[in-house]
Amino acid sequence: MKILDVKGLTKTFGTFKALDGVDFEVRKGEVFGFIGPNGAGKSTTIRVLLGLLKRDAGTATIFGQDVWTDAVAIHERIAYVPGDVNLWPNLTGGEVIDLFASLQGRLNSKRRDELIAKFDLDPTKKCRTYSKGNRQKIALVAAFASDAELFILDEPTSGLDPLMERIFQECVEEVKAEGKSVLLSSHILSEVERLCDRVGIIRQGVIVEVGTLAELRHLTRTKFVVQLNTPADGLGDLVGVYELNRIDDSWSFQVDSEKLGAVISYLSPFGIRKLESAPPTLEDLFMQHYGDEVGASLEGDS
Ligand code: ADP
Ligand code: MG
Repeated sequence: MKILDVKGLTKTFGTFKALDGVDFEVRKGEVFGFIGPNGAGKSTTIRVLLGLLKRDAGTATIFGQDVWTDAVAIHERIAYVPGDVNLWPNLTGGEVIDLFASLQGRLNSKRRDELIAKFDLDPTKKCRTYSKGNRQKIALVAAFASDAELFILDEPTSGLDPLMERIFQECVEEVKAEGKSVLLSSHILSEVERLCDRVGIIRQGVIVEVGTLAELRHLTRTKFVVQLNTPADGLGDLVGVYELNRIDDSWSFQVDSEKLGAVISYLSPFGIRKLESAPPTLEDLFMQHYGDEVGASLEGDS
């Protein structure tokens, strides 16, 4: 069942086409990763979905209702967390959580208190004193304490430390287990891998790939550095191995994610003394498949 359905979504700012026929859907009970570099059109799409921006063309529905004309009804059933949370400086964190919650569905106050403890938040402080990370936490607590059926999260973990990122991931897993749906945007592929059932990759206002991570594995390569006891001379001839470099007993290369198992099996008789790997990045994927420039700061933090 489709919770969110976007077809042919187009949005221009002046002469600039920020969205050029965006298509995707979010199904009930799934976490959908909306992945793309900075400036690709993620937030623009989300602002259209929230009824904050009017689309130029295409259709966009949530719960079968139009995101523009039925925005009020839709908002009672969704929770939204932006990447850069601005709060009311003179309210305390706790007051803002309750205010947010009153705007988006009902608040479960027991759950709110659990989340405040989990995110290690002091709700009595005035918002003006909160760091960026703490402001994110306020919005996350308000969202996950609501009874929303769809969570729209636009780079929600920017500013969170790794421990808090883990807690965020647990929250997403919990709402998913309750059958709720999540649209989670990010510019970092590895960040959403753990959570997402399917991902859509957006580039320059166009969705270029949609599928499960398993289906997209053929697009990604993992980087390796291995140290071997004896030289693995045939390594460069294996299917799916690229950019092989050898310095003494240290071999660096990339492997198609699909061929990982085969390459590791091939290497093991040569005696692996050390193995380091780096997960595929969006930057590499774009470079391999779309010829995007290296160092175009696709994965740059903003
Ligand atoms: P993302 O969230 O993927 O980083 P955005 O959706 O924020 O990207 O932006 C997509 C593109 O649209 C960018 O080039 C951005 O500069 C442009 N853009 C976004 N909002 C506006 C606006 N209100 N006016 C003009 N250009 C905009
Ligand atoms: Mg954005």
